[in-house]
Amino acid sequence: MHSYGRQSNFTWNGTLRELSNYSCSERVRPSMAAPGSSSGLEVLLSTLQNAGDIESTLSTLNVLDELLSAGTDRRILYMISKGGSEALLSALVTTARTFSPNFTILLPLLHLLAKVGHRDRRIGMKAEKAEAVMLTLNLLKQNERHSRMTAACLWVIQVFCSSVTTATLLGQNRGLDVIFRLIPPYTTRHTRTVKAAIDAFAALLYSMANVKTAVAKGYVSGLLRLYEDWHNKDTGHEAVPIRLALLHCLQQATHCRFGRDALAAHGGMSLLYHSTQTCLASKGLESLVEPAVQLMRKCCPKCPLALTSDRSVYTFVLPGRPTETPPGPQHVGFEDDSDDDAENEEADCTKEYDDDLESDVNKLRSRPELDRPLEQLGQYVRLCPELQHDFQDLDSGSEVDDSSDEEDLLKGDFWNDRRSTVTHRDSPSRSPVDHTASTAEDGDRDVKGEPAEIHLQARDLHSHFLSSSGLKPDGHPSMVDRLLEKHGACIPHHEPRLYAAAAALTKSIPGYSILAFPDFWGHLPPQSKEPMAGRKPNVQRKKVLEDVQRLLSPEDIINEVVFDLEDPSNQCSSDHSGSLSFFSQFECGNLRKAVRIRSHEYDLILNADVNCSQHHQWFYFEVSGMAADIPYRFNIINCEKANSQFNYGMQPVLYSVREALEGRPHWVRTGTEICYYRNNYYPSQGWKICSFYTLTFTVTFRHNQDVCYLAYHFPYTYSALQSHLQGLQRSVDPDKVFFRLQSLCDTLGGNPCPLVTVTAVPSSKSWRDLHQMRNRPCVVLTARVHPGESNASWVMKGTLEFLCSSDPRAESLREAYIFKIIPMLNPDGVINGTHRCSLNGEDLNRQWLKPDSVLSPTIYHAKGFLYYLSSIGRTPLVFCDYHGHSRKKNVFLYGCSVKETLWQSGSKVNTATVKEDPGYRTIPKSLDRIAPAFSFNSCNYLVEKSREATARVVVWREMGVLRSYTMESTYNGCDQGVLKGLQTGTRELEEMGSKFCQSLLSLRRGTTPYKTRVMCHPALELDHIFLDHNSHNCFEDDEPPCVEEIEYLTDIFPKSKGNDLDTEVNGNTSSTDEEEEDEPEMNRNGRQHSLESHLCPHLIGQETLNIKRNGMSISEGQYLS
Ligand SMILES: [Zn+2]
Repeated sequence: MHSYGRQSNFTWNGTLRELSNYSCSERVRPSMAAPGSSSGLEVLLSTLQNAGDIESTLSTLNVLDELLSAGTDRRILYMISKGGSEALLSALVTTARTFSPNFTILLPLLHLLAKVGHRDRRIGMKAEKAEAVMLTLNLLKQNERHSRMTAACLWVIQVFCSSVTTATLLGQNRGLDVIFRLIPPYTTRHTRTVKAAIDAFAALLYSMANVKTAVAKGYVSGLLRLYEDWHNKDTGHEAVPIRLALLHCLQQATHCRFGRDALAAHGGMSLLYHSTQTCLASKGLESLVEPAVQLMRKCCPKCPLALTSDRSVYTFVLPGRPTETPPGPQHVGFEDDSDDDAENEEADCTKEYDDDLESDVNKLRSRPELDRPLEQLGQYVRLCPELQHDFQDLDSGSEVDDSSDEEDLLKGDFWNDRRSTVTHRDSPSRSPVDHTASTAEDGDRDVKGEPAEIHLQARDLHSHFLSSSGLKPDGHPSMVDRLLEKHGACIPHHEPRLYAAAAALTKSIPGYSILAFPDFWGHLPPQSKEPMAGRKPNVQRKKVLEDVQRLLSPEDIINEVVFDLEDPSNQCSSDHSGSLSFFSQFECGNLRKAVRIRSHEYDLILNADVNCSQHHQWFYFEVSGMAADIPYRFNIINCEKANSQFNYGMQPVLYSVREALEGRPHWVRTGTEICYYRNNYYPSQGWKICSFYTLTFTVTFRHNQDVCYLAYHFPYTYSALQSHLQGLQRSVDPDKVFFRLQSLCDTLGGNPCPLVTVTAVPSSKSWRDLHQMRNRPCVVLTARVHPGESNASWVMKGTLEFLCSSDPRAESLREAYIFKIIPMLNPDGVINGTHRCSLNGEDLNRQWLKPDSVLSPTIYHAKGFLYYLSSIGRTPLVFCDYHGHSRKKNVFLYGCSVKETLWQSGSKVNTATVKEDPGYRTIPKSLDRIAPAFSFNSCNYLVEKSREATARVVVWREMGVLRSYTMESTYNGCDQGVLKGLQTGTRELEEMGSKFCQSLLSLRRGTTPYKTRVMCHPALELDHIFLDHNSHNCFEDDEPPCVEEIEYLTDIFPKSKGNDLDTEVNGNTSSTDEEEEDEPEMNRNGRQHSLESHLCPHLIGQETLNIKRNGMSISEGQYLS
């Protein structure tokens, strides 16, 4: 502490105490200064403004610096709150005007202003008001040859530019020119001042008006040349901060399109690319790589996807709609409100309460009227066969035969007429398979006596699939049949010929006639565990640099279309020598176009949902013609979501035909160097401001000339469901299990939507047993309303198989409940490979409020059926709709709770007066204990306005189902429990389906007095459920920010921290010019957290004051050199 030992117009001790209190304890408020008297600080500030002589001004500055340097930022903030910035500005203006300029005072004053102003968010405005802005610019102009003074002015200007209007004002007054002139080519002199100039220039570019001026004046090119010069000559890597600062200027200057164009036009991409290669090779230059890479991403010219139209290749003429005006939004920025999304990221995290939550109690509790005439519900009588069946044949021991009277009468029952086709010999009429071409090849092979599978070719697999009878028209078994004979795997609940027969009846828009091998052959989960993929450091950087190379060396790029759904000459052709072959024209397939980029790299473009130009996410395609052990890079370049689990350990899935023939019919997780990032493509007819994301992954195939399939997730087709249901129907014990397969309705595309009833056959036909059976509570389960969520189908498969099994818990469940299951609410979407929508281009899970009977028949009738159940007093005990979640891990439930929604929405309603049965928590609590993939903490029970048309909310609100859920299963894996760190496979998904059923046993007590043998399981004792009220907002992202920047528009140079500027300011005062040259360190470390007192150069500290005391003129001080 200084001991000046004089001055009576303010109290040292009081001021110091006050300031240190402020910094030590938040409880001490400024108002606690002695009442009635000005605080010491205020006196100090007033002295500064009114000081008429140099000595007292200097002393005051010194004291202030001493005070502010000893503590934390909080001291400065306190000083700002007391008008510190204004006092400094006023002193600056007075000094600059009065003392024609006196550097002895100006320099410390500017230094202190830089330190304080940097922490004052309104400093720009205050400076304008004090008329200090132009004054500082003029000071700068007048002292360009004085290094320290220049640096000090530049810092202050940089600080002023935190206000955009101030930056603009400076720009309008030639500030850009003045400052740009101060940035020299490579030099070792005055590097601190050079950096101050570059930082000030970057700060001026916070104003868009200045960016435009800078671009127009050619400063982008100037900055590039400067960067090049410093890069080339700074061989000792001593000027890294200066090079970084130049990159920052370029980053700022490319905020407008003209800036980006200018950078590209002046060779910026090449310069940045090549300088980055050098930086990657040098240890000390690592910090320059990331900013340069991000700058390259940002300035890469945007280009449209090479498509004739953004709309799906497949269109469907909707009944009653003209052909040319399909519904659905056109590129509204890809913001959808899917269940699993938090697209509006910024909006939510800053708000205390979520606006999306319903806060109106009446709306939360209302039970709206029927959306249709009551009479219409009569049609659903047929969907409750268990209620009409008299079980007269029970005593004879034979269950109802497959053409029971009532079923024959049921209109829309589809299975009877399908069954006959299984034994049909001729290929189905809709199967335009070209037999002639491949017959010859098969013949050749037979002559040579080689096993067909040695020459595995996709086109052989594409023939004869649908003629599943085993014999081709010429009487010879087809190749696939021979393979099946020889290698067929025994997969539970899967029979390939049954599958082919079911597929032959499936109606698709393109009229698919070819089966994907994995769907036909079947899949068994692999034995080994599949951990999440580790992410190599800087994998995205590597990929982006490869992408930039395309631009710089176009001659190295093949750019050959090797597959195009719209061009028949480019479909699975082998004309492209050395290229992989692609194919996607089969059920659930999605790949629109493949372009060969380099010899082992392909760009892939996905097809939009039918009648739509969005929702690119699901993919499923065949690839063949590969060489073994060579890494192939695949880039899906038109993804839409802002982030993806592919950045967090998820891998796509692969199925190899050769592996299957060798006895390993597995979908396996595959791919290395996986990452997901925003790219520079925009829709072919859309706005340039939208851009897509790239999912890139690398696959190394095991076998030469294999035929493989790649998919977003384990495929599960509509035909798979049909054959699975038929298999189940055959497998159940008809004496025990009442299993009925019916059609809810036909879809728009003409496919029946299955509805399954499962319950226990009553023990006898006695009135008592029949009565018990007919009074079992209903459980309604649905799935796959979103076609891309194939995980939901695997969970449903697990549910169905468990319910039909002989497991004693399954028996109990059947005895306790009647299950009504609609396993696929959106068959058309699934069949045609869409991700989100049905054929009308709409998300069916947003139609539940008022479903259209023509355009959304499955939802219309599912809702009608639920109304019907309610109308006969059989409101379901539980409703659950199975989904998949692409941005979170684990499996979890969304439910509905009035209280929790009110709590979370910040509603003023006194929830103590709201009565609510907490029973909606029983199932999640139970699952938490019994299902390893399930995460209770991820569940929530909030009713969002944006979800009011979903099945979960409508069934809860309109039907009054307390336990109405969406069950979300991750595409990735688990981050808790015994499955932690593993990706989920079909085994885990199916297990989840069976566990969900088991959790229903926890509800059984009290609902039925019958057998309770399973109820004593300790895991199911759920007497008192603790309500922790801590529902999370369901749509927030679980994941931390990605390790690498997904977006490229974000500012990677956050405004510099106060400490950095302090360090530089202190450097300006603690060293002489000579020292500066030996010590170009500039904030080399960021550890300097205290505001060390270096404000006044050491010579001023004591000596100058002494000089003054001795009566010497201060104007002779060394600063007027
Ligand atoms: Zn969904």
